[in-house]
Amino acid sequence: MARKAILIDITLCVGCGLCRDACKEANGLPEGEETRLNANAYTVVQDWGNNTFVRRLCMHCESPTCVSVCPVGAFTKTDFGPVLYDEKKCIGCRYCMQACPYQIPTYTWNETTPRVRKCIFCHERLAQGLPTACAEICPTGATIFGDRDELIAEAQRRLREEPEKYVNHVYGLREAGGASVFFLSAVPFGKLGFPTNLPDQPLPMLTWNALSKIPNIVAVGGTALYGLWWIINRRDEVGKLHTKLKEMEEREDGRFAN
Ligand code: SF4
Ligand code: SF4
Repeated sequence: MARKAILIDITLCVGCGLCRDACKEANGLPEGEETRLNANAYTVVQDWGNNTFVRRLCMHCESPTCVSVCPVGAFTKTDFGPVLYDEKKCIGCRYCMQACPYQIPTYTWNETTPRVRKCIFCHERLAQGLPTACAEICPTGATIFGDRDELIAEAQRRLREEPEKYVNHVYGLREAGGASVFFLSAVPFGKLGFPTNLPDQPLPMLTWNALSKIPNIVAVGGTALYGLWWIINRRDEVGKLHTKLKEMEEREDGRFAN
């Protein structure tokens, strides 16, 4: 399957909330008109005044920090774009919540064994050849779904053909190494709550030093930063150990075969 993406053109959004409702239905979540992400709302629509409405949802990063820091591999990046999580593997440590540069994963605080929650890009619908529920229902075309390359070209075409209408930026194309959800806007992204200080390179590739320059991670505190650093490095060590053990096993196998 070609890589998929979502393009959200904020200038076309009328704030009807149908995307939020369709998302709830697709994921079996209780009805509600939340404006902040929570365990029962994987996407929300926020009213920023002057007829400006902004959806919030997982960006489905190309190199996701949630995947990188999860110590038990509950998060995975699929080849066709979505970043999924496996509730059965999740141990509720919340490192993903601390590491996500967009503050997306939420937590089932009311459950006895809390787990994280976030948009899963309707991956089961995609497997059936359907678009995401939010894109299918959007009455204005503010949210559209398609092949990633085609949506990037479409976003760039809009910027080229109507430069007076938009700020000259496809949000999500470069931030933190890029994503599978893109935004176009008439209002500067920094004024709509989008983080505008993210580096272009993927965050998991950064060192502890660089991570500490990202405000929402700094806010988590030194202990968690150390935890992040430890996990990332530990995962490398574990990976190296596995390779070494595999090599030793193969050498042993070779000896016995001879
Ligand atoms: S936006 Fe956050 S939760 Fe979503 S893929 Fe990126 S790092 Fe993970
Ligand atoms: S369904 Fe479309 S127009 Fe309605 S709130 Fe969602 S993105 Fe905006």
